[in-house]
Order: sequence, then C-alpha cells, then structure tokens
Amino acid sequence: MSGCTILKSRIVLIGPPACGKGTQASLLSAAFSIPHVSTGEILRQERLAGSPIGLEADRYAREGHLFPDDLALRVVRQWMDNRARFIFDGFPRTIGQAIEFDKMLFERGIPLDVVYLLEISDDEVLARMLGRLTCSKCGAVYNTRFHDLAMGDGCPKCQGSLVRRTDDTREALEHRLSEYKTFTQPVADYYTAKGLLKAIDVEAARDEVFQMLYADMKEEAL
Ligand code: AMP
Repeated sequence: MSGCTILKSRIVLIGPPACGKGTQASLLSAAFSIPHVSTGEILRQERLAGSPIGLEADRYAREGHLFPDDLALRVVRQWMDNRARFIFDGFPRTIGQAIEFDKMLFERGIPLDVVYLLEISDDEVLARMLGRLTCSKCGAVYNTRFHDLAMGDGCPKCQGSLVRRTDDTREALEHRLSEYKTFTQPVADYYTAKGLLKAIDVEAARDEVFQMLYADMKEEAL
C-alpha cells in the first residue's frame, strides 16, 4: 500500500533565547511556504518605526522582561486575521498566552498540529547570543561564530546595517533566561499534557536541526 504525506502547517516553536527559533522558523517557512510569525520581531519593527505599541514594547524588551500578555496577544490577534497556517516563533511564552491562543484557534476551528521545544544548554545560549547580529532592515539573523561579519557591515541579503539587538547583553540575558524558566517552561508542560509537544535537541548544526524538523513536519502516513 502506498503512503501519503501529511504536512503539519500549524506550528509553534518554543525554546530559550538564542536557541535558533527564528532561524529554523524562517528556513521552514521558506521550505513549506507557511507564514513565519515572531511576536518579538513584529514589535522590534514597531520600535524601529517609533509607533506607540513599539515604544510600549521597548520598555520591557530592553531590560529582558517579557511583554505583558495583553500586548503579545494584541499583536497575535491582529496578525491572525483570516490566516489558517503559521509557524509561531516565541509565542506563546506564558500559560496565559497559551490558554488565550487555544481559545483563538478553537473559535476558528484550526487546532495546532505540533509544538516543537528547542532544547539547548545555558552555556551554548550565551555563546550564540553574544555573537548574534541582526539586520536592521530585513530582520535576517547571523552569528559571528559562523559568518565572517561584524557589527555595522551590510546584510548579505539586503545591504541593511547589521546591529546587535538591544536585549543581547549579559544582564538582559540573565533576565530572559530566568523568565524563560519561570514562565515559558510551564508552557512546554501544558502542551505535553495535550500530547502536542516534541522536544528537539538543537545543539547540533543548523542544517542538521533543520533536517530533523523538516522530516517531522512532512510526516509519511500509511
Ligand atoms: P524574541 O525575538 O522572540 O527573542 O523576543 C525578544 C523579546 O521580546 C523577548 O525577550 C521578550 O522580552 C519579548 N517577547 C517576544 N515575544 C513575546 C511574547 N510572546 N510574550 C512576551 N514577551 C515576548
């Protein structure tokens, strides 16, 4: 009997700061043509544009604090509109957000397919974060450990200026890691209880992690 391919198309990626959520989400988005959405990135763009919601977000992110749930949920509600396929990166980050997100999906009749938990050690998080450069124009992410690039260089994709995120400092990282452990790890337990969580070891090279996620999303069914 020949099998068929089932593509998971409603995905959530959660994991500690700098674990590669954004990179993997954008690779999967390009491979499967599923929109990638990052609440952190939407609000970084709003901050660069100087909008009121962006300035509100800036106060929290600069010190490595999570945004209040209502701020993150406002962004997600607006983004969801009529969309039924997505790869969320960095949302939901609290139990409150996960519960409200469930309600949103239930009302629309579009259940989640899978939640990937990207697992990595604190030491590797620090090393990755301190080398991270982000394009101020297109949001592409690079790492000085893997790319011959420095702050202020032009982005290889769009020539925008490469900058360090204002929250990529040691002090902010400590807050972000402790908030991750307090607020986001319980989200993993929440999705485990619903049978949706899959843990992926992301200490491996970027392309290897991508292949694991790619194979899982494109599951062969009998
Ligand atoms: P990210 O780009 O996902 O690393 O997010 C950068 C920062 O934005 C995080 O450290 C949080 O301060 C904040 N943030 C992004 N998404 C959320 C969310 N869903 N809930 C609360 N805070 C968020």
